[in-house]
Parts: sequence; C-alpha cells; structure tokens
Amino acid sequence: MSNINDLEIYDRIIFPKILEIPKRSRLYFLEPIGVGTPDTESLSSYLTRLAQEHCVTPKNLIMGEIAPLIIGDNYQSEMLSKNVSTIFGNSDAKPAINGMRDKTRSLVDALENLTLRQDLKFLSCLTWKGIIKERGLFRQNKAWCPQCFEQWRQEKMPIYEPLLWSFKDVNFCPQHHCQLCDRCPHCDSSSKAIANSSRLGFCSRCKSWLGSDHASASLSRDRIDNKTLLMDYFKSDYQKITGIGELIAVTPLLELSPTLSDLMRKLQIIHLCFERVVNRDLTQFIALGKIMEQLKITLTQHYDKPLNLVNLLIPVCDHAKISLAQFLSQDFQALSGILFSNLDINYTVNQAIK
Ligand SMILES: [Zn+2]
Ligand SMILES: [Zn+2]
Repeated sequence: MSNINDLEIYDRIIFPKILEIPKRSRLYFLEPIGVGTPDTESLSSYLTRLAQEHCVTPKNLIMGEIAPLIIGDNYQSEMLSKNVSTIFGNSDAKPAINGMRDKTRSLVDALENLTLRQDLKFLSCLTWKGIIKERGLFRQNKAWCPQCFEQWRQEKMPIYEPLLWSFKDVNFCPQHHCQLCDRCPHCDSSSKAIANSSRLGFCSRCKSWLGSDHASASLSRDRIDNKTLLMDYFKSDYQKITGIGELIAVTPLLELSPTLSDLMRKLQIIHLCFERVVNRDLTQFIALGKIMEQLKITLTQHYDKPLNLVNLLIPVCDHAKISLAQFLSQDFQALSGILFSNLDINYTVNQAIK
C-alpha cells in the first residue's frame, strides 16, 4: 500500500507539479570536433557543417538565422538577398573569420545563441585578441590536406576543416606529411572560408571532391622518401605547426583568461634565464644572441603591443626548451621552476621573483 494519504493525492491532482523542460535551442546542439586538441574544428567549418546538418546551404543558414542576429536593427531583406560577403565583408569571409576579428565575435555569439553551446569561441582565436598579433597570421583562402579528406571519407568520419589549416604558416599536414592544397585540382580556383554554397571537402566552385590518396607533387617521394628526413628538411615549418597546434589545443584548458602583461612577465624571466646561460658560457651567445635581442626589443619598446606568435613566441619557447603549451598554461612560479631545471640554472624561483 502506498503511504500517500488522500489529502496528498488530492493536492497532486489540484496542484500538479509543473515539469521543468530545459530550454530548447533553435538550431541543433551540434558538437564541434576536436575541442582541446590540435585538430579542433574551425568556426567556418562548424558553420558549414551546421548548415549541412539542417540540409540547407551556408547562405540560407546565414541569411535566415545568423544575419538578423549580427546585423540587428539594420536588417534589410533586400541587402541580404545577395550573398554572404554582404554580411561578413569580403575580407571577413576569408579564413581570418576563424581568427580574432569583430565579425568573429559576432558570429560566435550568434551561433552560441542559436545552438545554446558555450564552447564555440574555441573554434577561433578570439581568446588571444589583443595578446597575439593578428596581422599576417591567417591565410587569404582555404587550404586543405587531400589525404585527410580522403581518409575521413573512407573511414566514414565527419568531413571538416581544422582551425590549424587557417594559419598561413601551416603548409603541411602533420598527420600525412604532405603539403596543403589551396587550389582545386579540377578547376584551379581558390575558395573563401565561407561561401554561399560551400560543402566540406568539395570545391565551392566546380563542386568536385577535393580528397585524394596521393601526396602533392611538390613533396614527391623522389625527393624526400622518409618522414624523419622530411621533418629535418622542414624543421622550422614543423616547429611552427606544432606550436600553433599547441596554442589551439591548450586554449580551452586554461584556468584563467590570459593577459598580455602576464605573458610579458613570463618573457622577462625567459630573457633573464638566457642572460644567465650566456654569462656562464659565452659560446651560447651564437645560439641565443639573436632571440635575446628580439626579446629585449619586445620587452622594452613593444611591451604594450600584441606578441608575434610565429616569429617570437614559438622560437623563444624552443630556445628555452619548453613547449608553447607550458609557456601559456603554467603560472609564473611553476614556469620559472621548469626553466631553471631545463636550462640548468642554479637559481631559486623566489630570487627570480624579487
Ligand atoms: Zn592530412
Ligand atoms: Zn573546383
């Protein structure tokens, strides 16, 4: 027998408990691919994939759902009937949309509003706005690895475009060790990151499949037939790709929002370490002199300006024998300890902080 007495039953009938229904998203709660790894999906790829999931073109999704949120009161249907460049502007429809533009922020806000997801800013570099220099960091047109596309298709995995491919300095696929393509092999056209009818893995102009089993000709096996040799040959390129991948992977894992002054303080301690190393052994000046000079200029003349990722942060970390992820994620004290140990410096963290 139930313990519920008659009065309670009466209450339940007269005052039924209102069921709490979670808020529904207007668009699918589509999970972005690879967040927290170097293979994180790009914002433009997510937008295109979301359109595909809803069986509409990116243009229809943008004009119907996103534009009213981005443009707000200036929403004019006749202007929106043209193409997506009207919304994003010619330069913002390029891979830089995955970077740190104002339009990037608007697009992230609109997509988070429509999908109710809260992790979409990590598909761009918005976290680093004002901290890392944007100029020259992103490509003008899409680039892709034909072997990644082909492999994902054969393995029935989702086809997408990693954020890594938006960076100008990423010329090779770290998985397949082949050069990225930026022109369709069928019609020789280049593609913007966001186009009216893009479909991931296909040329936005001639609609041909862009995947292939074969490495690009410029890295043919006649020249370099071994992965280790290839990595030696393109050492600085691989160093940059690894560094950029680490930046992408570590961003969602950071406990505190990074600040420029925080990173400058860390660069100061690295400069101090380099000075110690050179004072101990003058021959080290050959290896460290140039980067020390660059660091000194940054710390004295450009201390309030965003930092160059590829030409400063990545090589500095390499010389300091730390990963970019360590540089970005470790706090000042922990990083100092790692540096003293890696560079064999007989110094305590407390001395350095003074
Ligand atoms: Zn690949
Ligand atoms: Zn084509």
